[in-house]
Amino acid sequence: MIRILVDSPPLIFIGNAHHPTGALISGRLFLHVLEPTITIEMFRVRFLCTTTALKPVARACPDCASRTNELEQWDFLENPCILSNGEHEFPFSCLVPSDLPITTRGLLGSIDYHLVAEVLTSTQETICSREMIDIKRATTVRKDIRAVQSFPSTGLTAQCIHPSVIHPVSEFRLHMRLTGITSWLNNIQVRLHLRELVWWVEERQEMVPTACSRHAAKVGHKGNSTLDIDKRSIGRGKLKSGWIVDFGEGVIETEFLAAVDPSLKPICDVDSKNGLSVSHSLVIEMTVAQELCLRKNPAQMAPSVADKVLWTRFRVALTERGGSGIHPDEEPPPTYKDVPTLPPAYSQLDG
Ligand SMILES: [Zn+2]
Repeated sequence: MIRILVDSPPLIFIGNAHHPTGALISGRLFLHVLEPTITIEMFRVRFLCTTTALKPVARACPDCASRTNELEQWDFLENPCILSNGEHEFPFSCLVPSDLPITTRGLLGSIDYHLVAEVLTSTQETICSREMIDIKRATTVRKDIRAVQSFPSTGLTAQCIHPSVIHPVSEFRLHMRLTGITSWLNNIQVRLHLRELVWWVEERQEMVPTACSRHAAKVGHKGNSTLDIDKRSIGRGKLKSGWIVDFGEGVIETEFLAAVDPSLKPICDVDSKNGLSVSHSLVIEMTVAQELCLRKNPAQMAPSVADKVLWTRFRVALTERGGSGIHPDEEPPPTYKDVPTLPPAYSQLDG
């Protein structure tokens, strides 16, 4: 019997994919020998990444649907060895580089990680054990971004202050300032009224399925097919009031809370070489109405013309929320020098 015990906490990369801090994976492999002795010829653990396309190039082909890459391998034996009855323990560890894509379960594809232990006995019997490894990315640093968009058809300029990073389970604050809501046409003042503001967080999933060698001809010489795209809203809100209007200064200003809906199972940002990527945008839709007022008598207004709908879109990253306390930069993870890489001497195990 064989089993894998992972000692390290869940693998969480801190910061973005270019950040130097990786995550430590360490564990122990237990081989329980029921017979008086067995001879094993091969004993290894492999760390694997599997990318699955839910719309593969050839629908019924498992090789198009899924491909597995080996990221690390630990060979515990150089030569065949005899193990006695009882439990034998083998430690292993490595520092996983932070540029790996996180574990992702998307609508178009998925990325999964496994540790697979394999033992080959002298009787050519293979014993396997698999353990899933969850890789996440978290951000501890949040900064606000000031984004500006102008709408030439109305003379409006929208300035939005929004966080650069949002999280699956927490609110975030948005500040909107619209300038240029008044203008003059001779003796007539043109005023823009904000009737409604709708915001939503848009999740965009993209997958470029890769063809296997047998079906490569279906997609040309590069082996990649066309891009599949899925877009959905993962959080939405509507405001009909709650803003301050100053026609003298020509400004509308509002601040409100927004959030992602965790029940929609939002997927954190990922940008992988495996063909799968997930990104997020904050979209704001404003419905404005135009009114005309005479300079001599501002209370006398002409009927407003048809409402206009204006859109603006800002890029935000969705990641897990980082922990508090010491910043991980100041406390790097232990390296695998701390863990013995060689198996225990078998002469000792054999007694
Ligand atoms: Zn295929």
